[in-house]
Amino acid sequence: MRLILLGPPGAGKGTQAFRLAARVGAPHVATGELLRAARAAETEIGARASEYMDAGELVPDEVVLEILKLRLAEPDASDGFVLDGFPRNAAQAKALDEILEEIGQKLDAVIALDVPDAVIVERLSSRLTCIKCGRVYSPSAPPKEPGRCNADGTELVRRRDDNPAVIQHRLQVYRKETEPLIAYYEDRGLLTHVNGVGGLEEVLDRMVASLPVA
Ligand code: AMP
Repeated sequence: MRLILLGPPGAGKGTQAFRLAARVGAPHVATGELLRAARAAETEIGARASEYMDAGELVPDEVVLEILKLRLAEPDASDGFVLDGFPRNAAQAKALDEILEEIGQKLDAVIALDVPDAVIVERLSSRLTCIKCGRVYSPSAPPKEPGRCNADGTELVRRRDDNPAVIQHRLQVYRKETEPLIAYYEDRGLLTHVNGVGGLEEVLDRMVASLPVA
């Protein structure tokens, strides 16, 4: 299944996308995570993206598209994917349409995770992230061992862009650039809104229930 998870930063995309991916049997593809991994590995793409990420700005489309195309070309993505953090603007949505058309594939569904701003700021200010695998932890979903990722034991960190000033800016960028995509996918009959406030399993069940029958 080919899915997109849309929503503001802190809506729970990162927390839920890999769970949803496991449920539908497709890889979780998060452009933010790919970019952070590229930066940690000190690649050229990572260097080109770094300052935009720290400022909460969108990384230029051509950089994100380069890293996304490489990821979607991997064998595990040939049958489907759960996209998280992409597309972020109209040009990226059109580029994705073109990539899919080239390989004769179609999107199955787009889920918009809805969460009020006050909840977003609180979540982002208190979350910890695994830089290696991208898993996200919070006071309501803490790791088993404090400060360590459940999956790989990596030390958890606060993301450089999870600070109040950058959070506000990321929200503005979301409203201006990304939110219009809700109408873009609504017009094509692909979008469902899901309430992102609630327990982890509860929200996941809502997302799964919103999917078209395979
Ligand atoms: P995220 O982990 O999705 O919150 O992304 C973190 C940062 O990576 C964003 O604030 C952007 O700077 C950059 N980024 C991730 N995905 C994209 C994208 N599709 N387009 C542009 N920039 C992106």
